[in-house]
Amino acid sequence: MVDIRSVHKSFGPLEVLKGIDLAVRTGEVTVILGPSGSGKSTLLRTINHLEKVDRGRISVDGSLVGYRRSGDKLYELREREILRQRTRIGFVFQNFNLFPHLTVLDNIVEAPVSALKRPRKDAVEAARALLDRVGLADKADAYPKQLSGGQQQRVAIARALALEPKLLLFDEPTSALDPELVGEVLDVIKDLAHQGTTMIVVTHEIGFAREVADTVVFMDDGRIVEQGAPGDVLDRPRHERTRSFLSKVL
Ligand code: ATP
Ligand code: MG
Repeated sequence: MVDIRSVHKSFGPLEVLKGIDLAVRTGEVTVILGPSGSGKSTLLRTINHLEKVDRGRISVDGSLVGYRRSGDKLYELREREILRQRTRIGFVFQNFNLFPHLTVLDNIVEAPVSALKRPRKDAVEAARALLDRVGLADKADAYPKQLSGGQQQRVAIARALALEPKLLLFDEPTSALDPELVGEVLDVIKDLAHQGTTMIVVTHEIGFAREVADTVVFMDDGRIVEQGAPGDVLDRPRHERTRSFLSKVL
């Protein structure tokens, strides 16, 4: 589903991704761990072309991200094509990023109607079903500021699902939440995992990684230091850097 090959990315003189190779199979959950500044968010952002790679390439569901190939040359896609590509990749951020002036229902309905040209009636029906799925059927008419952080994040997940993405990316979806609200958001993500949603999740929730991940990836300083089954990377890490990171977060 996702194929990342030799991806490099710098910001000015700072090389943030130093050759990343990663493959994610359909229906699998990949959890990315790593210290602050190791490049986790940048990597996620390259997957939907919010950041352009300097070298390497990424494909999602068989399409090259951000580019089209013509002969042996690559041409960047036009803005409209990039936006269309992004509709197939859901992105859930640390800080929810809901539209504050729209109700919960309208937050979810907005993208399918404007980006996918769905009839509003169908989009509303689908949005209500999604709200039910994340346990917020009774909050359709509330505004984001009337909800707890955990509820807002569940709305953000429903909003991402409304585009029926092939792939869901989560960037520290619970790290802005009070501890007692973390579980309800992780439970929604676990449900998605059990239903076979392909996901890449950046998180420091080791328990979640152990329970849900098919693959755990440890990043440090712009590189993947090691990756493998959770039982291997979390319980029998091969690298000292992984061990020392885990000893701090566990
Ligand atoms: P955290 O755990 O704190 O979220 P991270 O692993 O997600 O960290 P990134 O956000 O990918 O790390 O950042 C990696 C490095 O790139 C950091 O040194 C950061 O300051 C730098 N960086 C990220 N985005 C930009 C940008 N737009 N311009 C310049 N530097 C950037
Ligand atoms: Mg980050």
